[in-house]
Amino acid sequence: MAREIETKCLHLEEEEGCCNNYGSISYPIYQTATYAHEGVGRSTGFDYSRLQNPTREHLEKVVASLENGIDALAFSSGMAAISLLMEIFKPGDHLIADADLYGGSIRLFDHVSSKNGISFSRVDCHKVNVEDYIQENTKAIYIETPTNPMMNVTDIQELSKIARKHDLLLIVDNTFLSPYFQNPLDLGADIVVHSGTKYLGGHNDTLAGFLITNREDISEKFRFLIKTTGAGLAPLDSWLLLRGIKTLGVRMDRAQENAIAIAHWLKKQKAVTKVIYPGLPEHPGYEIMKKQARGFGAMLTFQLESKEFALAILENVRMIKFAESLGGVETLITYPTTQTHADVPKEIREKNGITEATLRLSVGIENIKDLIAELEKVFKETEGELYAREKS
Ligand SMILES: *Cc1c(COP(=O)(O)O)cnc(C)c1O
Repeated sequence: MAREIETKCLHLEEEEGCCNNYGSISYPIYQTATYAHEGVGRSTGFDYSRLQNPTREHLEKVVASLENGIDALAFSSGMAAISLLMEIFKPGDHLIADADLYGGSIRLFDHVSSKNGISFSRVDCHKVNVEDYIQENTKAIYIETPTNPMMNVTDIQELSKIARKHDLLLIVDNTFLSPYFQNPLDLGADIVVHSGTKYLGGHNDTLAGFLITNREDISEKFRFLIKTTGAGLAPLDSWLLLRGIKTLGVRMDRAQENAIAIAHWLKKQKAVTKVIYPGLPEHPGYEIMKKQARGFGAMLTFQLESKEFALAILENVRMIKFAESLGGVETLITYPTTQTHADVPKEIREKNGITEATLRLSVGIENIKDLIAELEKVFKETEGELYAREKS
């Protein structure tokens, strides 16, 4: 019987019954650049750490098992993973990319991949018929679901049917839900991307990225590219990711529970004009989420009545930190306009619904009473300040 995911975060099936590494429960950090050979033509299986390192390999096996892939590769960051992924395409290739993606991915596509001769159609994959955008040279569809920061939900299974029919790769950045809540390969995707910096690492302390696939031919290409370009995750960072992953399940459950409570609290605030959380039944992607994911995650976006209100909240938060990034144990609040999506042209930002009054919360695992108390204080202070400003 296939193991449940909480268990797979802790135990690698192939190691069961063994007492490797002196029985060490925590996997050792092999802080080495190179490996000795017993003789000519003999190898321990490890030659040089750019190609492979035991700590990184152990992490990759764990992540492959969480996403039900045949191979996973660990990189020094999410962007390093996506940059390597783009190397499987060649000049003249065309990709369909969702209109609402992580800002760094948009920057990579617009300024690096385009320079290398790859073209993109930016499409609202949750809304339009993607088939209408397929060209003769289209090679792949690249999506996030739910998207960042607008939480648009795309039906992965439906999209995978289109990808199959036209022989396109379906690539899903699964960072927002983590493998704990969603497994795109099981729904027909060919490649899964993760920023391991987020929920997998989970502690806002380490950068990492992953590519996972269930296709032998793609895994081979990735292995050649990582050896050639050299962005593999370092041994100590691999260990930090392994440690983070052990608690993925309990962290995600708590963060989601907190996010639901905060979404309901925000809905009751006069200054909040909209709460976008895919776990609210009124969210347009709610039914698809219920079908394709095991949870709704802990990311939520909300609109304030004014830019001034949004900025004042960012000034007034104390326990909740005004910072980029997400998926860690600490609750963070982000201003997409000047942070994650600063490099996205204003027209596109606004077309996607990101305004100067939009804030994004990555809900952490603090006690919910303290989170709500903080938000109550911040909103009250902000209202007072804006009222005083109006009067003077
Ligand atoms: C953060 C993020 C990335 C980039 O990952 P880094 O580890 O910061 O390089 C890619 N996709 C999504 C959805 C992200 O949130």
